[in-house]
Amino acid sequence: MSSQKPTYITRPYLPPLEDFLPYLEQIWESRQLTNKGPFHRQFEEKLAEFLGVNYISLFTNGTLALVTALQALRITGEVITTPFSFVATTHSLWWNNIEPVFADIEPETFTLDPYKIEAAITPKTTAILPVHVYGNPCKVKEIEDIAKRHGLKVLYDAAHTFGARYKGKSICSFGDMSILSFHATKVFNTFEGGAIVSHSKEMKEHIDNLKNFGFRGETTVVAPGINAKMNEFQAALGILQLKHVDNIIARRKKVVSLYREKLKIIKGITFLDDMPGVKHNYAYFPVLINEKEHGKSRDDVYHFLRQHNIYVRRYFYPLISRFPSYSALETAEPANLLIAEQVAAKVLCLPVFPEVKEDTIEYICNLIVDLLK
Ligand SMILES: *Cc1c(COP(=O)(O)O)cnc(C)c1O
Repeated sequence: MSSQKPTYITRPYLPPLEDFLPYLEQIWESRQLTNKGPFHRQFEEKLAEFLGVNYISLFTNGTLALVTALQALRITGEVITTPFSFVATTHSLWWNNIEPVFADIEPETFTLDPYKIEAAITPKTTAILPVHVYGNPCKVKEIEDIAKRHGLKVLYDAAHTFGARYKGKSICSFGDMSILSFHATKVFNTFEGGAIVSHSKEMKEHIDNLKNFGFRGETTVVAPGINAKMNEFQAALGILQLKHVDNIIARRKKVVSLYREKLKIIKGITFLDDMPGVKHNYAYFPVLINEKEHGKSRDDVYHFLRQHNIYVRRYFYPLISRFPSYSALETAEPANLLIAEQVAAKVLCLPVFPEVKEDTIEYICNLIVDLLK
């Protein structure tokens, strides 16, 4: 059994190579490799249409989209954010000289707890940076109310939510801005890539200037911008990937349903169901391993599966607040982040990608049953 080929947490989806070659030929012909070429323009339009948003700016990756979004919103001082995310969320604050303030998450969605956000506000707070972690929508209404009451901006890290919808709208329609990631490991990839969704023509233009060194036109530089442009190769792949993404999400949904069916009977493993009003993208399948019920820790399960060539991941362990760059902050204290600490100690993400075979899911679930019984 353990001679089974390795299964990783994800396997990037790529369209058939022959479908990509005509795009490459066009790039070779035009010699337009980057700087708002024809594929960039096309992809931006098609993507806005697909997501159901009006203003989108393409980036070379999600991290630079985050860094630039904070600049575009002129955020300074302190920003309230979650420790339960990929480390890039907090790094984007560091790169802008902003002090991260960690607040705890909710056990039901693993997203920022609105009560904890409000309790963390100080006179220096200028914004909230929540994460729709695993694609689970944050409490957007409550967060909007808090932001309004206290005059704060809201920037959503929507790196996990490609194609997800909430109450019939794109998840990216909430807050002042949202950022997306098209990294190889995400539901939708352009090798690497990212985007900012904003809500006015002026703001989109400003963001487009910022991602190109601050240039507006040929000779005017309006701000100390950065180079974060998406190139034509990424944009061409994006155009092609859009044709497949509904199918990719449907296949992911099947994989997650199979896991849920097979694991629901096992004591000591819990997981979230679909949330009401949400069209999920099934980016991840996190389960919580409750050691008290069977004496096996999350790490026992993690190592056991790896011994059997199943490369599960402990997203998100350690918490961002535990990394040396941030652990000295007052709000990084474990006592301030009790739920996040508990979830980080129990969580395990099982392999989800369009081509996972039913046999493999069965094999993984049987291994877990064997270990926990
Ligand atoms: C992947 C990810 C990012 C960073 O995106 P890149 O495209 O890899 O730079 C940011 N935030 C979260 C939550 C992510 O998962």
